[in-house]
Amino acid sequence: MNEIKIFSPATVANVSCGFDVLGFCLNSVGDEMVIRKTSEKGIKIIRIEGFDLPFEAEKNVAGVSALAMYNTLKPDCGFEIEIYKFIKPGSGIGSSAASAVGSVFGMNELLGKPYNRTELTEFSIKGEALASKCEHADNLAPAMFGGFTLVKSVCPLEILQIPTPHHLYATIIHPQIEIKTAESRAILPKEVPLQDAITQWANVGSLIHGLHTSNYELIKSSLHDVIVEPHRSQFIPNFDEVKNEALVAGALGCGISGSGPSIFALSEGFDTAKKVEAEMKKIFSNTDIAFETYVSKINTEGIKVLSSK
Ligand code: ADP
Repeated sequence: MNEIKIFSPATVANVSCGFDVLGFCLNSVGDEMVIRKTSEKGIKIIRIEGFDLPFEAEKNVAGVSALAMYNTLKPDCGFEIEIYKFIKPGSGIGSSAASAVGSVFGMNELLGKPYNRTELTEFSIKGEALASKCEHADNLAPAMFGGFTLVKSVCPLEILQIPTPHHLYATIIHPQIEIKTAESRAILPKEVPLQDAITQWANVGSLIHGLHTSNYELIKSSLHDVIVEPHRSQFIPNFDEVKNEALVAGALGCGISGSGPSIFALSEGFDTAKKVEAEMKKIFSNTDIAFETYVSKINTEGIKVLSSK
């Protein structure tokens, strides 16, 4: 096998109460990448379509994670990478994470799978750090493993796969304004009142229990963020209205996807998720902000091979 084409999915990080630790994987939006072995050594990005991103391997998250793996393994070949980007950079649905996991996943397949998915995520963290200026894996883990994931620890890296209730659907609206992950991290408080911390960890624990037991009522009562959302929501136009209308339309919960500007909602059943989408669209249609929406079943498979030769 000399060439592989992969689908690298978009992801939602944080999931309201799980700042920096929880995430889930989407299947209706993602990037495609082609990774090819070359006799010339090194990592080269030879094609990028969809969005304007750097070709230098050291400046592109796909290249940085690829180099981290390449310099550790020192294979006797090189690799060239083509990136077909469908996830807008800076959208808050894991655009950089999709690239960071894609390159190493593809190289690993071509090399006969010397690494497991946790080890591949470790290399991807190096790429993700280029975009967000800190090492975290809350988008990388769901892109790599699929479903819901909890990053129990980054160092050493420990990822837990959480079961996905069968009827859970996500609705995403991406208002096309720019929020840089690095900047939206900088505005967060360094300390948290104890009462807020108690509320938050009760919600994380009960959300995990709700996911394990497919208890949609418990999922609903757990999807609250009293720590991060109050600080970040001010940067997203119409956030409060979108959240309110999503809940009225029947969503289990609604919050900021990653560091925004995308907003996600989770619903029981496709029909409710579509109703939530219609309400979100209605709100942004009354503004001059361009937007995109997605409705997606939770992708339990994660990154996958599309073809190889
Ligand atoms: P997102 O949450 O959508 O990944 P980030 O703000 O974390 O958004 O990352 C986007 C930043 O990373 C942009 O500044 C972009 O130029 C940079 N970047 C570098 N390489 C890539 C890549 N292959 N894919 C996406 N973004 C990249």
